[in-house]
Amino acid sequence: MKKAYIVRLSDILDQIQSYLPGADTRLVEKAYVYAARAHAGQVRRSGEPYLSHPLSVAYILSQMKLDIPTIAAGLLHDTVEDTNVTIDEIRHLFGDTVADIVDGVTKISHLPVKSKVHKQAENFRKMLLAMAEDLRVILVKLADRLHNMRTLEFMPEHKRQRIARETLEIYAPLASRLGIDWLKRELEDLSFMYLYPEDYRRLREEVEKVVAARQDFIEEVKSIISQKLKEEGIEGRVLGRRKHLYSIFRKLQRNNLSIDQLYLIYDIIGLRVIVKQIKECYQVLGIVHSLWKPIPGRFKDYINLPKPNMYQSLHTTVIGPGGRQMEIQIRTEDMDRVANEGIAAHWLYKEDKIISASSVKNGQLDWLARLVELQKELQNPRDFIESLRMDLFPEEVYVFTPQGDIKVLPRGSTPIDFAYAIHTEVGHHCARAKVNGRLVPLDYELQTGDIVEIVTSSQQKPSRDWLKFVKTSRAKSRIKQWLKQEEKQRIFAAGREILDREFRKVKLTLSAFLDDERAEEIARSFSFKDVDELIIAVGYGKITPQQLVRRYLLEQKKDEKDIEAEEKEILQRKRKYHQRGPETVSVEGTKDVLFHLSKCCKPLPGDEVVGYITRGRGITIHRADCPNLENLDPDRLIDIKWETGDGASYTARIWVITVDRKGMLASISGAISATEANILEAELKTTQDKKALFNFVVEVSNKAHLDRIMNNLRQIEGVIRVERRFA
Ligand code: MN
Repeated sequence: MKKAYIVRLSDILDQIQSYLPGADTRLVEKAYVYAARAHAGQVRRSGEPYLSHPLSVAYILSQMKLDIPTIAAGLLHDTVEDTNVTIDEIRHLFGDTVADIVDGVTKISHLPVKSKVHKQAENFRKMLLAMAEDLRVILVKLADRLHNMRTLEFMPEHKRQRIARETLEIYAPLASRLGIDWLKRELEDLSFMYLYPEDYRRLREEVEKVVAARQDFIEEVKSIISQKLKEEGIEGRVLGRRKHLYSIFRKLQRNNLSIDQLYLIYDIIGLRVIVKQIKECYQVLGIVHSLWKPIPGRFKDYINLPKPNMYQSLHTTVIGPGGRQMEIQIRTEDMDRVANEGIAAHWLYKEDKIISASSVKNGQLDWLARLVELQKELQNPRDFIESLRMDLFPEEVYVFTPQGDIKVLPRGSTPIDFAYAIHTEVGHHCARAKVNGRLVPLDYELQTGDIVEIVTSSQQKPSRDWLKFVKTSRAKSRIKQWLKQEEKQRIFAAGREILDREFRKVKLTLSAFLDDERAEEIARSFSFKDVDELIIAVGYGKITPQQLVRRYLLEQKKDEKDIEAEEKEILQRKRKYHQRGPETVSVEGTKDVLFHLSKCCKPLPGDEVVGYITRGRGITIHRADCPNLENLDPDRLIDIKWETGDGASYTARIWVITVDRKGMLASISGAISATEANILEAELKTTQDKKALFNFVVEVSNKAHLDRIMNNLRQIEGVIRVERRFA
């Protein structure tokens, strides 16, 4: 790259005179002197004196035809950043407008930009717009960036890459958004050159070839249109126009084409017809369409429907001479200026033929509509600039995490909103907040550009007071949720205490109640989901503790009754089994002596029995053939008479040995039941020789009853043996 021409003050002043003839430029001259002194001795990487940079920036701003304070600010834009100069001094010497612009530019350069900026590029752009209260801040920043990009070759490689990427992702779109087309194109092509040098070089060569090849064709069409304009009496210019390299590159990418397939892109070069009046645009369109066949679907009327950045034009693509496609753009001089200069075009031109009120009406222009409205209210075009307080995104603030992540929050948001935006737990435990390194109250209103740091503490809990100032619905709902949960816990604890007190009055405890499986049932009987809900209801006073305790006592009593009844029944059954009902034992004429049955031989009424006089436990009845009798004192053996009445029952054990086959148990138990005997125990074993042994304890009224059972069993097919067991 050739050594850049160093801009001199006179270049700037001359440029200003060209669009502001007779303007008072003393502020610019003063700014020049001041900047020269402030930057004295500083040198750029290029080896040039540092002052060359602010001079170039100011010159770019004058090329954008901006006002005097903006150009002065361009000269001063790096003084606060890079020298000992303070903003107060600038304010004192150059006034609020210049100082505010310089301050805005300085703030932007202090923003922490992450290396992975592309993720948040859109937010960043929005933030820049929102931050610059005055659009001129952005314009100075863009001019600054343009000059830095033009001199990027002097930067070390890694910085080049970062700066070029940032330019492509933030500043070029910003220029586009503001409608400054020439700036966008130059920023994009410079970025493209540094980011993809090889693609850039090859594409440039190829495009040159295409342009050279089509030159004659373009000239032919140009002269045809010019001739027609003359015939129709329309004053206008016909220009050749070329797409800039990066937009061709993007178009190739979008269509998955390689650079070798460049010939497939028909609109690398095209024509632009520029006329005086809007109605002439449509006249020219008619002429073009009468000359060549338009391609359907390619006609765009951006005059009636301008782009959001104010761009207005007619676009059409026709099949030109030789069957070659060609795009033609038709617009007025005003529209052409806006297309190139965008928002900057408004700085100096009052006559507003550029945007009609009707085009603003249908919301197509969103934020610009508001600017235009504002502009209409002002008589003096200069006031337009002065009053152009940026109100593009009034509902949002853009703040940073200490790591450089951008969070977008509604205007009026506080550190608590920010904390909840990061994470619910960070919100819950947000104890303190630092903004730009300084502690701020938790209800501090966040400003765009703030770097916010949240200090959490495990002790900290959400407070009801927070609800008074948080802005985001996320924070609100999280806090409410937490408070509700916390209240529940508090009420729960209160409910427990109340209940425990009440239970103790009736010599019970709450924990005994909670351990009781009936507790859940009782909760449900009060229509609560579980015991916890029941306790919470007591805490809230929805039911009284007395109500609950009473219900519990009632349940207990009911259960006690049930238990009593059950026990009674069991006892009765026991009696039935063991007390043998109305029976007597007589000994030598003495009736009703105390007796019990021996365990060793399980005598049944009907068995031949003898009595044995025990010491203190009455008489034990043994079967006469009980083997144990041999071990007993013969002197104590006595004859007895054992009489039984109806309903008495005794237990006897029998073994049934059968072949092992299915259904045997059913047959056996059927046979037993047929005699109206109860089976008290049943056990089945399979023996080693594949036989089944059933071990039963049955309830019978006497020996005859048992004999009947045993006979029945012996009738069953497969039963091998039936025997009475005595133990
Ligand atoms: Mn700078």
